Amino acid sequence: KPPTPAILGPGHTLGVVGGGQLGRMFAAAARRLGYRIQILDPVPQAPAAQLADGQTIAAYDDVAAARRFAELVDVVTFEFENVPAETLQAIEEIRPVRPAPKVLHVCRHRSREKDYLSRHGFPVAPYRVVRSSDDVQHAAEELGLPVILKTADFGYDGKGQARLEHGDEAAAAWTALGRPVGVVEAFVPFDREVSVIVAADGRGNLRSFGPVENTHSRHILDVSVAPASCPPEMAQRAVAMAEAIAATLGVVGLLTVEMFVVGDQLIVNELAPRPHNSGHYTIDACSTSQFEQHLRAICGLPLGETRQLQPAAMANLLGDLWSRGEPNWAAALAVPGVRLHLYGKAEPRPGRKMGHLTALADTVEEARALVLKARAALVASP
Ligand code: AMP
Repeated sequence: KPPTPAILGPGHTLGVVGGGQLGRMFAAAARRLGYRIQILDPVPQAPAAQLADGQTIAAYDDVAAARRFAELVDVVTFEFENVPAETLQAIEEIRPVRPAPKVLHVCRHRSREKDYLSRHGFPVAPYRVVRSSDDVQHAAEELGLPVILKTADFGYDGKGQARLEHGDEAAAAWTALGRPVGVVEAFVPFDREVSVIVAADGRGNLRSFGPVENTHSRHILDVSVAPASCPPEMAQRAVAMAEAIAATLGVVGLLTVEMFVVGDQLIVNELAPRPHNSGHYTIDACSTSQFEQHLRAICGLPLGETRQLQPAAMANLLGDLWSRGEPNWAAALAVPGVRLHLYGKAEPRPGRKMGHLTALADTVEEARALVLKARAALVASP
């Protein structure tokens, strides 16, 4: 493995494992900064590949293809957590992977993540690791209903997740989960959900976006507004905790920390060692976007200013919006202050993230109202 220079400047080639919207927005930032970009994704013309210099079309567990991909690039990052460990290991033998596979190892698996956080003194909801429907039953009794059963791995956007209200739901929920290991969590009666996106350069410098306030629908992020409506003291605590987690994990790149706010308490829900849906507003509202920040961090460049220039709101556009045909783009774009981002996905399936809208305004409330107005206009009858 050849030594990697401390700074990978413009002109170098960045490799991204995964060709979805996060890879696409990363590729857009990389291109603007004069980098070359190579995507590994099994689907030809994946959203990120549309903006890339090249795509290695191969299954994620095709280790030989992953090696060929690594040879084409100078550094590798990823846009989703479930990259097979063997693939990452093969890549790491050839090029640096940032954040490091050891970070991914913790964040990709809910029980490892929760064990790690609680072992290091970070607050998480009470939980039990479960391996059978009996375990689920016991966990529900110990933690008290309602509880949430989640897969330990391969869960995203609320997939592999069930809320249990009654003990007799345990067996069916376990069968429906269909995975060997799960986590049962106490239900957290949260007031709000927030996230902080930390960038770490590996030399001790940390810079954060947020907290952002997130609302979900059917377990999928629906709307984010920034800044979150929490007292400055709590916002500072959220940032300090997220930065402490990133420093403890030794992240190089971005780490998103999702938290529940309960009274004046903060509880960590989930970690994602990558750009995050709740940070899309940074493209339009901050002096550096989360994607550029991720690039700066993994390339050894100085981290950018994270200052937010205007209050912002982001609304996701799911495939459901296409159920009665092509959305009315002109109507949404007629709303002042609204910006449209589409991901180049051919097939608008229900629940699939197809794009998002961002609105900027003088206040968060105004921004939220504008973005919701624009989204509603997409499907309003003429
Ligand atoms: P997750 O996949 O863990 O991010 O969960 C998706 C969403 O489900 C969260 O953003 C919450 O809205 C909800 N949720 C997850 N875990 C809990 C919990 N323990 N208590 C209450 N709501 C939860």
